Amino acid sequence: MPTPATPNDLARTLASLAGRRVTVIGMARSGVAAARVAVARGAQVTCTDARASAPQVEGTTAVYGEHRRVDFLGADLVVVSPGVPAAQADVAAAVLAGVPVVGEMGFAGGLLAASARPPLLLAVSGTNGKSTTTHLLGQILQRAGLRTFAGGNLGLALSEAVDGDYDALAVEVSSYQMELPGGFHPRAAAILNLTPDHLERHGSMDNYAAHKCRMFAQMGPDDWQILASGDARLERLCEVLPGRRAWLNAFPGVKIDAQSGGEAQLRFDDIPGASPISLAGFTLPGRHNRENLAAAVLLALCGGVPADRIDVRGLAGLPHRMEWVANHRGVDWVNDSKATNIESTLVALRSLERPAVVLLGGRGKAGADYERLAGPLRAARAVVCFGEAGPVIAEGLERAGLAPVRQPSLDSAVEVAASLAQSGDAVLLSPACASFDEFTDYEHRGRHFADRVRGLLP
Ligand code: ADP
Repeated sequence: MPTPATPNDLARTLASLAGRRVTVIGMARSGVAAARVAVARGAQVTCTDARASAPQVEGTTAVYGEHRRVDFLGADLVVVSPGVPAAQADVAAAVLAGVPVVGEMGFAGGLLAASARPPLLLAVSGTNGKSTTTHLLGQILQRAGLRTFAGGNLGLALSEAVDGDYDALAVEVSSYQMELPGGFHPRAAAILNLTPDHLERHGSMDNYAAHKCRMFAQMGPDDWQILASGDARLERLCEVLPGRRAWLNAFPGVKIDAQSGGEAQLRFDDIPGASPISLAGFTLPGRHNRENLAAAVLLALCGGVPADRIDVRGLAGLPHRMEWVANHRGVDWVNDSKATNIESTLVALRSLERPAVVLLGGRGKAGADYERLAGPLRAARAVVCFGEAGPVIAEGLERAGLAPVRQPSLDSAVEVAASLAQSGDAVLLSPACASFDEFTDYEHRGRHFADRVRGLLP
């Protein structure tokens, strides 16, 4: 009976890939990046994808449209893209056979750790806010004078950082990327929040949370686990893992001091070298963005960035997250197309400080309870429900006593919103649904919305 590969087996393999047989499964962005890195190190690389027409990587053998078990059982290392579950039959067979099997992020993380001058690796996970926090952290590190890579689950794959010349890496981590965490070893890693998501793949909340906590698995006693406070499940799961503990919104850790006459500030306790940081000049809207900033600053401090090099003024947000599009006849149009679940839309509604026409709809998720939106929507000027899920959302809100307007598509919803909004209002697209009924993804939906809005301008 073969024994499963140990972390030492993996480390030995990664230390010298030349001549090794490496199989990469799943040839989207991460898989392609990992294959290129392995080729550059002299490995014999086989790329495999269930699709017959996946991207080709020069210098590799392509097995597309099928997977051959021999490519897994005969490999020295299998690298798995986040799109492929660890339970996939060939991957599971390789694990059982004792072949070192690692996710793309674990692969890249292991190579980075083994490099001559490992960069500072800071990681961000959670259900909501990962991309924004990673983007903020990247800007903070860059401004502090570090040559910085920001990526991971967002934009560039971590493998694309392996042969770059970086001082620091701000890395967004999804639960999928921690199914096979391999050599991923951040200096500090934060779990921003945890609400039910991706349960179709992870099976249960405990399992989903446990995947996030695997970011801490390789840590030493001086590394930092940063956790959302008040989540008993997270606390229980992380207790047994190595690393020092700091909290978001509790001490030791960081808290946001509410405005008391002056500007709000971030306050820290028991974080070496930390001093209060004013939020004057931080312009992203909503408490959630201040929380994302607090996490980013805490990560930077735990990573050893001196407090006096941290500058939060005018940091930029990401497109499609509460993004201001245009002002038309005194009405601000805001694109929050990234809000594809109810939690995100609740966050957006709470961050609004004035009357708004709110656009909800798209492709709904099975079992979603849209009545939960009714409370904060009572303050809205109007609610317009559109797209495939429009009728279901409207029924939920009607049960709660609201009177939403129904429209077939986003385009007609925009037209109606323009007629309902009054000067001084906002019109907010924060749909609480996926976009696939009308668009290829949330970015496509957001761009389309912005184009339509600009079309209203004189
Ligand atoms: P992710 O990468 O985790 O999907 P994003 O930064 O892209 O997160 O933000 C997605 C949406 O999640 C935002 O549009 C906002 O509505 C919501 N959101 C952002 N930050 C937070 C937070 N800290 N807590 C709860 N919700 C948030």
